[in-house]
Amino acid sequence: ERVEIKEIRGEIIFKNVSFKYKDEYVLKNISFHVKPGETLAIMGLTGSGKTTIVNLIGRFYEPWEGEILIDGVDIRKIDLKTLRENIAYVPQDVFLFSDTVRENIKLGKEVEENVIKKALRDARALQFVKNLPEGLETIVGERGLGLSGGQKQRLTITRALVRALIGSAKILILDDVTSALDMETELYIQKALEKYHLTKIIIAHRVSSVKNADEIILLDNGEVVERGTHEYLLSLKGRYYEIYQEQYGKYVFMEETV
Ligand code: ADP
Repeated sequence: ERVEIKEIRGEIIFKNVSFKYKDEYVLKNISFHVKPGETLAIMGLTGSGKTTIVNLIGRFYEPWEGEILIDGVDIRKIDLKTLRENIAYVPQDVFLFSDTVRENIKLGKEVEENVIKKALRDARALQFVKNLPEGLETIVGERGLGLSGGQKQRLTITRALVRALIGSAKILILDDVTSALDMETELYIQKALEKYHLTKIIIAHRVSSVKNADEIILLDNGEVVERGTHEYLLSLKGRYYEIYQEQYGKYVFMEETV
């Protein structure tokens, strides 16, 4: 039967979830619990199953073994429209500034103009534009050609987030969004996101992107091989620690003083 959920809080539970597209399991016994407002980070090499987890949460593939619950309800019992409206998915967008910055912050052409206007009036969207650093809000009517790389990145992510947030989603999935960003831009985004009480799933490769997560899981070939907070994973001196050393090895001193 279907369960009517009017307002999703954004708690996500995976209980021993296994999944195969064809014959071979690509997720094996995955469990995690993300409480409303918390952040789960997923790391792992290409093909380890990160995107598959995201696909399952949005119910793009079935069937799985085990349980996937949102707010304690089996997601198969949640109306699909309600489920997806509550999941804001931000892909790693490559995106050109042929239009004005204002156009770029607005939505894709697939959305009707009146919807855009309504959306942009939305306080949360406006808040985002208002909070753009470096006076970006004053150039929203201009073409983006003169922007620096960092400014373009900020606007790219801002646009994606505005798109995500106008739907009042409670769950935000950032799919490898920050890989292409410079550290300063990444910090800006993390700060901007703090204002919203969203449950976040971050797929990332950089330790700097995941270190503040409530839980980090490392996937390998569909299995969780390490899990915990940044500090705990470092103390394990395992794979996460290796990644950390690869990324920060030469800069440990800087990292620790920031
Ligand atoms: P990641 O996001 O970590 O790169 P994926 O979840 O995309 O990993 O992939 C996990 C495994 O599932 C890989 O072996 C991949 O080839 C396979 N896979 C992904 N999508 C499909 C699909 N639509 N059909 C069949 N196999 C798939």
